[in-house]
Amino acid sequence: MTELSGVRALVTGGGSGIGEATARALAARGARVAVLDLDPGAAPLGFTADVADDASVRTAVADAAAALGGIDVLVNNAGIGAAGTVEDNPDEMWHRVLDVNVLGIVRTSRAALPQLRRSPHAAIVNTCSIAATAGLPQRALYSASKGAVLSLTLAMAADHVREGIRVNCVNPGTVDTPWVGRLLDAAEDPAAERRALSARQPTGRLVGPEEVAAAIVYLASPAAATVTGTALAVDGGMAGLRLRPE
Ligand code: NAD
Repeated sequence: MTELSGVRALVTGGGSGIGEATARALAARGARVAVLDLDPGAAPLGFTADVADDASVRTAVADAAAALGGIDVLVNNAGIGAAGTVEDNPDEMWHRVLDVNVLGIVRTSRAALPQLRRSPHAAIVNTCSIAATAGLPQRALYSASKGAVLSLTLAMAADHVREGIRVNCVNPGTVDTPWVGRLLDAAEDPAAERRALSARQPTGRLVGPEEVAAAIVYLASPAAATVTGTALAVDGGMAGLRLRPE
């Protein structure tokens, strides 16, 4: 039921990390996949665009739809991070992160919805985060942006369910992507920081990008035909489990 032959998919942020793994996983199940990214990398059907720029999004979505012959699946995955408390980031940084993480989803969805309406199996999957619900320290701005992604996912699911368009999100924990690699490199002791991030997840390790991709593939596929307005945690049990300290 996660076989996707004939499905036409567009993945934002598909040039790296979770998005790249998702593009590969969709293609491995038979989907035709286009990538929208600031840097689409080696993606066979890559379109360079900035989700913070409406004109570039509209052009890239139209070009991707033309190349694929339509769009059935939109994966809104492009996102950026920000560390700190509310005292640490100026307004410009708040505007920038919300512009990419929240309005980016609004822009690509707005551009792709006319295509999705023509699809018999339309699905949108947003990459949210455990930060939407967990109360992580030093992540005020990032968490607020992902809280908005979660609410937006639910509101879009309600708005488009009668049109046959499903909308869900994944909530990853800490995923071993180039993004997290950059965070580790910036730490005083990268190996100790990796151990600390791994220990924060009850499974004791970081999530693999391909493990988040598998959840996105499921939500995008006919196997999830009655699943809409839900957030699927892929976080090593971080959000749901309350273990006693060892
Ligand atoms: P990554 O940095 O490896 O990849 C992100 C991709 O998005 C890059 O290719 C980048 O070029 C692209 N991108 C960034 N800003 C863009 C813009 N304005 N327009 C177009 N493309 C843009 O990061 P990742 O870890 O794979 O993260 C992907 C998504 O997963 C993000 O939304 C992030 O918030 C979310 N997430 C990541 C983690 C984690 O631990 N890595 C955890 C939870 C959620």
